[in-house]
Amino acid sequence: MKVETKPARCKECGLCKANCPKGAISFSEHTNAAGYHPAVINDELCIACGICYTVCPDGVFHVLGKEA
Ligand code: SF4
Ligand code: SF4
Repeated sequence: MKVETKPARCKECGLCKANCPKGAISFSEHTNAAGYHPAVINDELCIACGICYTVCPDGVFHVLGKEA
């Protein structure tokens, strides 16, 4: 499985980064249309546990290969 993001939805609240067990989330140096630095996943570190998907209040994450 793999996790993808929808950067336009991110409000840079930091919940995903604080809860990722693998330290796989950082913030982009670029801003989205709303002026936030969206969360970015390091695919080398991500184990597709789905925690970021669970904690994000803005529906940024999608776990591919798993029915929601
Ligand atoms: S799926 Fe799990 S390991 Fe991957 S970025 Fe989200 S919280 Fe981190
Ligand atoms: S939890 Fe969602 S809105 Fe908050 S920083 Fe992470 S991706 Fe962005």
